[in-house]
Amino acid sequence: MHQGQGERRADKINKMAEAKDTPIIEATDIWKSFDSGGTLFNALRGITLRIAKGELVAIMGASGSGKSTFMNILGCLDRPSKGKYFFNGTDTTLKNNNELALMRRNNFGFVFQSYNLLPRTSTYENVELPLLYQGLKFGRAKRREMVLTALKQVGLEDKMSNKTNQLSGGQQQRVAIARALVNNPILIFADEPTGNLDTRTSFEIMTILQNLNAQGTTIVLVTHENDIADFAKRKVVFRDGKIISDIASVNVKDAAEELHKLPVQEDINVIP
Ligand code: ADP
Ligand code: MG
Repeated sequence: MHQGQGERRADKINKMAEAKDTPIIEATDIWKSFDSGGTLFNALRGITLRIAKGELVAIMGASGSGKSTFMNILGCLDRPSKGKYFFNGTDTTLKNNNELALMRRNNFGFVFQSYNLLPRTSTYENVELPLLYQGLKFGRAKRREMVLTALKQVGLEDKMSNKTNQLSGGQQQRVAIARALVNNPILIFADEPTGNLDTRTSFEIMTILQNLNAQGTTIVLVTHENDIADFAKRKVVFRDGKIISDIASVNVKDAAEELHKLPVQEDINVIP
């Protein structure tokens, strides 16, 4: 049957609308079992979660409740034992490891509690690293532009020559965020990014994450701290590998505002 131009256009618009409405994350009945000395331990027991583009979701729950295990599956660092995970409409369970690596590189940024930076290496080189992994895709000048853009987003342009072991914890985490940003990810996974930081520095990190979210980056934030989860638009609580609540926040706190309310402290976290 001949399809007219009008119909083709309508088709295209429908497809675009569909793509817009496709959840960026659609995980259905996810189970993860680990072999612990001959018996199977179920770290995740049937997690179903959808996340739309542009959300800032906090995944909460006690230590051992399965938050990191789930985040690793969403970030395609690990695979579920059972269940389906679609990322942006793509069935990740059908992808091989190389395809998953490519998917991670093109779409995701990761930030962890322990910054995972190369020590005795400059801020600049740490942030450039994900670009170098892509071989000859970006020339030196383009790489420099991308690194500087990422460093500006976290306010660290002036520290680009410092070795990372010369930086404070908060500065190191900002380098890690810049490294996660340098490939322009559409989604950032942050697993306890403020876990090693004091309140002020934590709020600074959350200010950066909220700004990125305001610019359109979807953020999945694992935290067990209530005052950090208050900066998220939605809170999902895990217990024993299951979701026990999933609530949209009515009063999302503004990290920059909360930061200004904190009493000024001197002589902490300052390494000139
Ligand atoms: P959370 O991040 O909420 O603290 P995790 O997802 O790290 O919890 O762990 C959930 C449970 O799964 C814990 O009981 C943990 O010991 C177990 N677990 C996690 N990873 C592994 C693994 N690779 N092998 C065996 N058990 C694991
Ligand atoms: Mg964890």
